[in-house]
Amino acid sequence: MNLFSVTEIKAILEKYNTHPSKTMGQNFLIDKTALHKVIEAADIRGNDTVVEIGPGMGTLTLELAKKAKKVIAIEKDRAMVEMLQETLKTHTTVKIIQGDGLRYECNLKKYKVVANIPYYITSPIIRKFLEAKYPPETMVLMVQKEVAQRITASPPHMSILAASVQFYAKAQIISYVSKGCFWPAPNVDSAIIKIVPHQDKPTIPTDDFFIVVKAGFSHPRKQLINNLSVSLKKNKKEVQAWLSKNNINPLQRAETLNVQDWINLTKSL
Ligand code: SAH
Repeated sequence: MNLFSVTEIKAILEKYNTHPSKTMGQNFLIDKTALHKVIEAADIRGNDTVVEIGPGMGTLTLELAKKAKKVIAIEKDRAMVEMLQETLKTHTTVKIIQGDGLRYECNLKKYKVVANIPYYITSPIIRKFLEAKYPPETMVLMVQKEVAQRITASPPHMSILAASVQFYAKAQIISYVSKGCFWPAPNVDSAIIKIVPHQDKPTIPTDDFFIVVKAGFSHPRKQLINNLSVSLKKNKKEVQAWLSKNNINPLQRAETLNVQDWINLTKSL
């Protein structure tokens, strides 16, 4: 496993007369152990197609290319694309697409997502792939540590983000990764997360699920009975009966409910 050193990254950037862009969230991976952990978690097989968002210098891309049948790498920064084309020119199984990962129309039916993404697109990228007609088999992402913790939380630390991701998938933290594993070092620590979409599609309408969850979390510090009755315009007696039927105490807060509780509530709405 080889990766670019800071000196090499600097030399490549200099050759192209450019600098790491803050607005593009460019923090390149420079740590072998972290790279190894991402690749290991991704569990790439010889017949896999991998979609990578934000390949940057191509550090991850090169490792993925060694294992996968095909890698589709979507990079927004034009200068970065030029550098990548040079670095990956002998790798014919890698397809580099210049564009916004959030707008990429993935028409693959079977694929895996692996990415060290810019942190500002974490939630929308996860959402995009989980809501896709054909979600990926697995998603291994480098994300901000706190976001990883929020996504994988359990009661009593649930949030809309946790409930939304866990509605579609199983999410786990693979490892924490410190700032020093990137150049330039970001301001925050990171974590590698693995998201595995549930095999079975939800049996309730997705829209209804999110209406109930959003209503429950409308004022996270307030009790469920208040949030649900105000947001769903129902009287308190009705809400009390609805909650009790699902073994939920009306005085509980939304953060104490797990995904199954929200599904039960949606089913009996
Ligand atoms: N994966 C590389 C680079 C990480 S930096 C590594 O691990 O070293 C994040 C990369 O995402 C940068 O190359 C940046 O240009 C790219 N990027 C930023 N916004 C993007 C978007 N909306 N779509 C695709 N790529 C994006």
